[in-house]
Amino acid sequence: MGKADYHYPVVVIGGGPCGLAAALGILNQELGVAVIEKTDYNQKRIGEHLPPSALGIFAELGIPDHLVERNHLPCAGVMSWWGRQAPVHTVDYYFHPMQHGINLSRPRFDRDLADFVRQRGATIHEQTTIHSIQRHGGLWHIALSTNGHQRIMTTPFVIDASGKSASFARTQGSRILAGDSQVAIIRYGSTDQAPAQDHKNHIVIESCPTGWWYFAPLAAGQAVAMFMTDADVTPLHKSTLLTHWNIALQSTNHIADRLQPYVHLQKPVVCLSRSQRLDCFQGENWLAAGDAAMTFDPLSSHGISKGLRHGWMAGKAVATFIQQGDRRALERFDRDLEYIFSEYLKTRTGYYATEQRWPESRFWSRRHAIDSLSGQFDIDSTFRQAV
Ligand SMILES: Cc1cc2nc3c(=O)[nH]c(=O)nc-3n(C[C@H](O)[C@H](O)[C@H](O)COP(=O)(O)OP(=O)(O)OC[C@H]3O[C@@H](n4cnc5c(N)ncnc54)[C@H](O)[C@@H]3O)c2cc1C
Repeated sequence: MGKADYHYPVVVIGGGPCGLAAALGILNQELGVAVIEKTDYNQKRIGEHLPPSALGIFAELGIPDHLVERNHLPCAGVMSWWGRQAPVHTVDYYFHPMQHGINLSRPRFDRDLADFVRQRGATIHEQTTIHSIQRHGGLWHIALSTNGHQRIMTTPFVIDASGKSASFARTQGSRILAGDSQVAIIRYGSTDQAPAQDHKNHIVIESCPTGWWYFAPLAAGQAVAMFMTDADVTPLHKSTLLTHWNIALQSTNHIADRLQPYVHLQKPVVCLSRSQRLDCFQGENWLAAGDAAMTFDPLSSHGISKGLRHGWMAGKAVATFIQQGDRRALERFDRDLEYIFSEYLKTRTGYYATEQRWPESRFWSRRHAIDSLSGQFDIDSTFRQAV
């Protein structure tokens, strides 16, 4: 093992919302931190809607208003066509104390947040690839490279905030447990036309026999539409993806209409959107947080705020452990994650239970089968090991 080029009290793997909030939590307790991020924040990032209940977290973390408001679109609420709600169920954010939600433009948000965290004192190693991590002599030794330059970094504690791949936790023997095989088929679009006045920047949710749809207007005449379905319900082969997208879109009454002005549509892309969690959130001098620890169904619209909240909690717990040698802060964080996940499952099950129009549909009957376990969410029987 070569001599270390850098040493940090804590190293965070992943510079998304969770990893950056973890760095803020550590800095808040006056400890040094480095974030290792594999990208340069120029690639597309999925997930944009923040409901008003999620906006309070920014003030809590000391993130300035302009970072969240400039370049992003205020959102008036949610219109959903789901279950027997007729003709539409509208959640109007105006009646919430925050009065609006926000549709973020990513990766812009992540990049601006990374710049802010850097100004606060964190070292962020962008475009950096980790080659190996080994533990000896009470330290993690991380071999990495940035633009071809190989270096060794040491630290007593690693936070895995690498997103749903949980790339570090899995090297430590933690397993991903997946509850379903949901995927999202996603298309971004842009328009030169102003959207109709009555649309008022609402996000739109609409269920259909093979899954459900989501539409969100974004800043600067952009929008995103996503179709959530199961990997074995809708064929995902590249050559027929567009055809299946169009068939499913035609089965909607409202999404097709909302998407219609966005004439410049990008090719569809597919990504996993399943609910998953790690069987074990922590090990010796490491822990996982954000999507690395647990990934929510996009129906929740809480993935980004969960990432920020987990990161902040994890950063403070780790700093307390390092400064005071007190493991109880880490144990509390672990218990909090267990509680958050069980509450999430109850909410998700309750929401899917309100759509009963297609009992023969494989997509919907699977979600209702989980409902029969309501109140006794046994992770081992509900969640199988991911392949
Ligand atoms: C289809 C879909 C729609 C969604 N819609 C919403 C929504 O409307 N609202 C909402 O709140 N959430 C939404 N989400 C969820 C949300 O995007 C995520 O929950 C959130 O981004 C999680 O933040 P994170 O920081 O934990 O992980 P991520 O955002 O995934 O960040 C992980 C970071 O780690 C980096 N990384 C990964 N591996 C490595 C490595 N080995 N070395 C270094 N860096 C690494 C990545 O580049 C990335 O920067 C959606 C998700 C999906 C799939």
